[in-house]
Amino acid sequence: MKKCVFCGGHVEKKMVTFTYEDEDKYLLVEHVPAEVCTRCGEKIYSPKVTDDLLEFAKDKFKPVKTIKVPVFDFAIHP
Ligand SMILES: [Zn+2]
Repeated sequence: MKKCVFCGGHVEKKMVTFTYEDEDKYLLVEHVPAEVCTRCGEKIYSPKVTDDLLEFAKDKFKPVKTIKVPVFDFAIHP
């Protein structure tokens, strides 16, 4: 049985949404196979999956859809 390297919790195979953030760029990749810790929520990707995710970040593929993401500024609220 695999364990989380961070907290020693139980790790489960799941499909997750990967989020990538870099300066003004923000993208999501859905249905990514990962192992997720049921205790701390840490997501672990295999080296192959990590390589593939970096390809998405390089704008190599056409997105399946585009969503609007509202941006708030915590310093500016009544
Ligand atoms: Zn954990």
